[in-house]
Formats: sequence, C-alpha cells, structure tokens
Amino acid sequence: MSRGKLIVVSAPSGGGKTSIVKAVMERYPSLLFSVSATTRAMRAGEVNGREYFFLTMKEFESRIRANDLVEWEEIYGDYYGTLKSEVDRALAAGRTMLFDIDVKGGLSIKRGYPDDTVLIFIKPPSFEVLKERLSNRKTEDDATLRRRLARVQMEVEKGSLFEHQVVNDELQRAIAEVENIIANHASVQTING
Ligand code: 5GP
Repeated sequence: MSRGKLIVVSAPSGGGKTSIVKAVMERYPSLLFSVSATTRAMRAGEVNGREYFFLTMKEFESRIRANDLVEWEEIYGDYYGTLKSEVDRALAAGRTMLFDIDVKGGLSIKRGYPDDTVLIFIKPPSFEVLKERLSNRKTEDDATLRRRLARVQMEVEKGSLFEHQVVNDELQRAIAEVENIIANHASVQTING
C-alpha cells in the first residue's frame, strides 16, 4: 500500500492560512486533517475534536509525559501539539494528511518523517498587509495582536527553510498554487474525481 504524505501548511498568524486550508480540504475530501491538541480557549464556531482537541494545561502536560505528541510548541503562552495518534491514523491507512501547524512544528514533523513530509509556507505579501489583516480580524485584543506580530520575524526565517513558498497576494491564486503542490506530491482525488 502506498504511504500517504504528510502535508504541512504553515503561515504567520493572519497569513490567510485558515481560508487556504479550508478550501483545500473541500477540494480534496480524501485528505485527512490532523486535529492538534491545544490549551488555548475555544473560539466562537469551533468544535472540540474538529478544529482542535481542547485540553487543560494539566491534561496537555500529561500527554507530553505519556509521549503522546509527535511535536509540541508553546505559542503565545499556550501549548499546541500534534498527536501521534493522528499521524498513525494517516500512515496506517496510507492516506495523505494535512497539518495546519506552526513553522517549528512543521520542521519537527519533517525531521521525524523526512521522506513523507511536504512543507508549504504561506507568505504574506508584506508585513504591512499582515498587520492590517490581523487588526481587521478583531478576534484578538491589542496585547495579543502585538505578540502575534512579534513572532512573525522568526516565522518568516524558519519558513524560508520550507521547500515550497506560496505568496498569499490573492487568495484564489494562492489556493490554486497550494492545490497544485499537493496534487504533485500525493495521490489525492478532487471532488470531481
Ligand atoms: P490558532 O490559535 O490561531 O488556532 O493557532 C496559532 C498557531 O498555532 C498557528 O500558527 C497554528 O498553525 C499553530 N498550531 C496549531 N496546531 C499546532 C500543533 O499541533 N503544533 C504546532 N507546532 N503548532 C500548531
């Protein structure tokens, strides 16, 4: 049986990644989405077990001790991590899985599964555009916004190590580019077959 690929899509906060990931998941229903564990608060519209498994700090730390996580990072004061059970689910079924995780997490997945991982970095067209997008989102208060912007430099540096860079200048074009990359690396079926 062919082994599925592990496709990582990373972007700075506000980089438009969520819209891209959503569109790609709709176009390729055979893709599995890796549901990460996190300690951050659930946002409106999110469902436990769909966007994330929402855990308390204590629960997350016991998952770390139990070695249940392939990788984990502390981001903006919360824990985020990829569950081994999610990766095993994909590899056992020979299915391709999509990871919406940060740049450091992506590089860790690549280290763990070098032959199976495809890294895609979504770049904002500029720092100014990114700032504007984040301010318009209004899901974060000022302090959170500043923290997210402070992280961008590291993200862009680490993102330059990714094998694919997609500039999100125009959303539909960026989506098409990500879809092409995935189709070139994995056997995935579109909704039209
Ligand atoms: P958000 O709180 O906006 O959902 O996510 C914040 C950041 O955490 C995003 O860059 C997202 O991709 C990243 N993230 C989500 N899940 C994981 C994970 O399992 N591991 C790592 N390293 N980052 C994650």
